[in-house]
Amino acid sequence: MYDVVIVGAGPAGLSAALVLGRARRKVAVVDAGEPRNARASGVHGFLSRDGMPPGELLAVGRVEVAGYGVEIIEDKVLAVEPGFEVRLAGGRTLDARRLVVTTGLRDELPDIPGLAERWGSDVVVCPYCHGYEVRDQPLGVVATGEHGVFKALLVRNWSDDVVHFPGPDPVADDRLAERGIEVVPGEVTRLVVERDRLTGVEVAGRVVPRRAVFVNPTFVPADGLLTSLGCELTDEGFVRTDEVGRTSVPGVWAAGNVVDPMLQVITSAGAGSLAAAMLNTELVLG
Ligand SMILES: Cc1cc2nc3c(=O)[nH]c(=O)nc-3n(C[C@H](O)[C@H](O)[C@H](O)COP(=O)(O)OP(=O)(O)OC[C@H]3O[C@@H](n4cnc5c(N)ncnc54)[C@H](O)[C@@H]3O)c2cc1C
Repeated sequence: MYDVVIVGAGPAGLSAALVLGRARRKVAVVDAGEPRNARASGVHGFLSRDGMPPGELLAVGRVEVAGYGVEIIEDKVLAVEPGFEVRLAGGRTLDARRLVVTTGLRDELPDIPGLAERWGSDVVVCPYCHGYEVRDQPLGVVATGEHGVFKALLVRNWSDDVVHFPGPDPVADDRLAERGIEVVPGEVTRLVVERDRLTGVEVAGRVVPRRAVFVNPTFVPADGLLTSLGCELTDEGFVRTDEVGRTSVPGVWAAGNVVDPMLQVITSAGAGSLAAAMLNTELVLG
């Protein structure tokens, strides 16, 4: 019987494992090996690790948690029965007193030819993660509605040359013109890529030269295990947790992007760490 089984060995899961391993708990972390930022060249904005390749950060984390006796299992969790019985694709079943789900989310990208292939290099989501790397270059924001306007205004922080591609139904907002952001309405028909580099955005047969593009994917949480256990959702459709990571189901905890799409690597790690400490307190108090 494990004290805790953690599902997902991204920054949230590994940070939870580090705290629980150091708290001398019997812990297993099961990971399917598909972290969200795998396509990125570096993790930016993580103090003391700024720019480190994402795979390297996780590899270092795995060595650290293994040093405290945490078992890392490369597998996929298919189902969790109440109690908890954690069923793995490889056939193993793990029994656990508590469950921490840190399974992240999937970015559902706009269906534009050429876009998915450039994801994580010159098609990106987060200006705080990638804005500095493309500063002062011709940037595009391919994003509809008010969130698209907000992103265009935000991206303007990193370059004087920003074009907003709002789709066929632009939202009027004076701030775009005030900040010198050109708006090119219409269906984006493809991203133009030359010599393994984004060079433009095509709208109605016109190619607007651009060096990088910011998009607003739909965030789809990998929360099937949580919902199958009956965890309550927020109005936004994410599993509800309290401020330390407790879900509505006793013994089931969650942290990181699976419950909050806004969290970056350092804040996901912080959420996993906090959840682990509070979970340990719960075990101590019985
Ligand atoms: C292209 C891109 C670049 C980014 N760059 C940055 C950056 O520079 N700086 C920054 O701070 N943030 C960046 N981010 C955000 C960052 O990826 C997330 O903040 C972070 O990955 C969230 O950590 P997490 O632990 O919640 O989830 P993840 O890192 O996604 O880890 C979840 C893990 O759970 C596993 N898993 C899922 N389901 C199961 C299952 N059923 N069984 C077993 N394992 C499972 C997955 O395989 C995965 O390994 C970027 C995101 C993207 C998309």
